[in-house]
Amino acid sequence: MQLDDALSLIREIPDFPLPGILFKDITPLLGDAQALSLVTNSLIGDPSAFTHIVGIEARGFILASAMAARAEKGFIPLRKPGKLPHATISKSYGLEYGSDALEAHIDSIAPGCKIIIVDDVLATGGTLIAAIEIAHDLGAEIVEVVVLFEINALQGRQRILEKYPNISVRAVVTD
Ligand code: AMP
Repeated sequence: MQLDDALSLIREIPDFPLPGILFKDITPLLGDAQALSLVTNSLIGDPSAFTHIVGIEARGFILASAMAARAEKGFIPLRKPGKLPHATISKSYGLEYGSDALEAHIDSIAPGCKIIIVDDVLATGGTLIAAIEIAHDLGAEIVEVVVLFEINALQGRQRILEKYPNISVRAVVTD
């Protein structure tokens, strides 16, 4: 299997979770051992460049934990509100469907940590901008933002780069 074969396992579900949304369903890819392994390696990129992997709830957790285990890096969760038990920092953001917020434990990212931020899909960019803001506030050095799938038409990359022109945004596949 090649990386392209793995990526072809991502399927599109129309009108989920709301009418008009074309949902990128990565579960067939996750269920295939070879595909998961190929995609995990591709997402990791250069493991010598970072110390920790920040994953975004919920599908970002799946990819980020696989990457952290493979690359032998620490995993840091960014969670939906009210899930983390210790003191948190929080940022709210707009979504392709609805709005939400992300939280991190205030002591989860030590100042000077070299992190990469991982999610499954880049759509409008709001989620990743909130993640970048949290990482900045906690004093991390963001080496790269990486997603499995970038929905080009929703211009998330442009939105991120308008605010953070120096951040590297990488997608394994773009439509
Ligand atoms: P955004 O903040 O608009 O870039 O949205 C990205 C977040 O929403 C990611 O955490 C994705 O899991 C989820 N998401 C947004 N749009 C889609 C989509 N069409 N298919 C799958 N997930 C999506």
